[in-house]
Amino acid sequence: MVRRGASANTSIATRIILSKRIDLAGIYDKLYEFYGPQSWWPARTRFEVIVGAILTQNTSWENVKKALANLKKAKALSPGRIKKINERHLASLIRPSGYYNLKAKRLKNFTTFLDSKYDLSLNRAASCKTARLRQELLGVSGIGPETADSILLYAFNRPVFVIDAYTKRIFSRHKVLDKNADYEEMQDFFMANLPKNVKLYNEYHALIVRLCKELCKKNPQCGLCPLKAKKWLVPTDSFYSKLRLLKGICRDPEKHL
Ligand code: SF4
Repeated sequence: MVRRGASANTSIATRIILSKRIDLAGIYDKLYEFYGPQSWWPARTRFEVIVGAILTQNTSWENVKKALANLKKAKALSPGRIKKINERHLASLIRPSGYYNLKAKRLKNFTTFLDSKYDLSLNRAASCKTARLRQELLGVSGIGPETADSILLYAFNRPVFVIDAYTKRIFSRHKVLDKNADYEEMQDFFMANLPKNVKLYNEYHALIVRLCKELCKKNPQCGLCPLKAKKWLVPTDSFYSKLRLLKGICRDPEKHL
């Protein structure tokens, strides 16, 4: 049975939620019905996800793809190779992703961490509990909460909701969240009000990104947006009963996930 789960975070939730009960499931349904599955993360290996999560900081995915292609061509897309490769050479390979010197250092920092804690083995790292692994990732210089959580969710399949500027934009524009809420407060809100489900968190974050890239831009195109109806901002009795009825989040989990 899916638990409501908001009680532990009530004080945080009441501070940042401007609308009392939000139909997060309904928002998800609308987005999914509009866009369909996003098939994230676009990578073939766990390490490729991690490298992509670091390289995508402050740049578009198109640029990351070019940097990843360079790494693949140079056969440098493995923890062992990143550890050994000269940092300047690494920077030149990832140049298309921008901030390449900084990002080369960050990739080195990650592999140094992986080497010292897990003998360069991501499988060993995968045996670590989520909270500990998150703490360890946050201890790597250059890995902040969004990157750490992207790695946990998309590389290690952990039920951790990723917050980014897009999430903040949509939910603060609709006055669901206070735009001054910090990362943890926003994350607590989503995780307290949604079932802890890897597939759901994976798809939900990807759909938010898609919506912001295409419609909820600096000048939002609300007329074309699946969330334009404000129904999802008012309390709905169906929300929690829906969660209780379903093992996942949607009316038809098999169809949606
Ligand atoms: S485009 Fe408009 S309706 Fe859609 S999420 Fe953004 S602000 Fe809301």
